[in-house]
Amino acid sequence: MQEPLMSHQPDRDESPPPVMQTEVNGPGVTLEATVRHLLTAIGEDPGREGLRDTPRRVTAMLAELTAGLGRDPADELSIEFRESYTGVILVRDIPFYSLCEHHLLPFFGSVHVAYHPADGVITGLSKLARVVTSVSRRLQVQERLTRQIAEALRCRLRPQGVFVGVQAEHLCMAMRGVKMNGTTTVTIEATGTLGAEQPRYQSLMAQLAPFGRQGL
Ligand SMILES: [Zn+2]
Repeated sequence: MQEPLMSHQPDRDESPPPVMQTEVNGPGVTLEATVRHLLTAIGEDPGREGLRDTPRRVTAMLAELTAGLGRDPADELSIEFRESYTGVILVRDIPFYSLCEHHLLPFFGSVHVAYHPADGVITGLSKLARVVTSVSRRLQVQERLTRQIAEALRCRLRPQGVFVGVQAEHLCMAMRGVKMNGTTTVTIEATGTLGAEQPRYQSLMAQLAPFGRQGL
């Protein structure tokens, strides 16, 4: 096993409880009970047949959807190879599902991740998808999700350049509020030799077209 090149500190703006809290509002008040209160508060009867198991299901679902909370996504990136490859590595169309932290509604779409290795330091392609999943499984905003993926690559692989492009639809925009169904939001974090001023950035964008053409 090779030592990681450098340790990575989780972002300061994350507040990471390591385990799912099942007791909230003090001892004895579980998340299941809180969901029952929520159902009552919206005018439902939590005792009716269709809702009887809902608090248990919602609790299990939230544990799954926030399983990345408190985890360092860089830990997904073991350095598996040292190769003489000097080109850019691009993994495109990695699907993701996350929860918007403002409304607790899903936002989802795809991520394109590219990096330009330094000193032949390369990770497994599936590891990039694992980083995407790790940062998705917590309450998020798209901008931070994009930056955290790039940060994980930068910290662990120390590449010459990183590019992360995210295209997503937010249900909080589609289902409520402005009801902008079909709108996609594009965010890009690109640094080093893949930064926006670099020729490699232009060729990446050409390969990813029409990504980034709409909404920018
Ligand atoms: Zn939202």
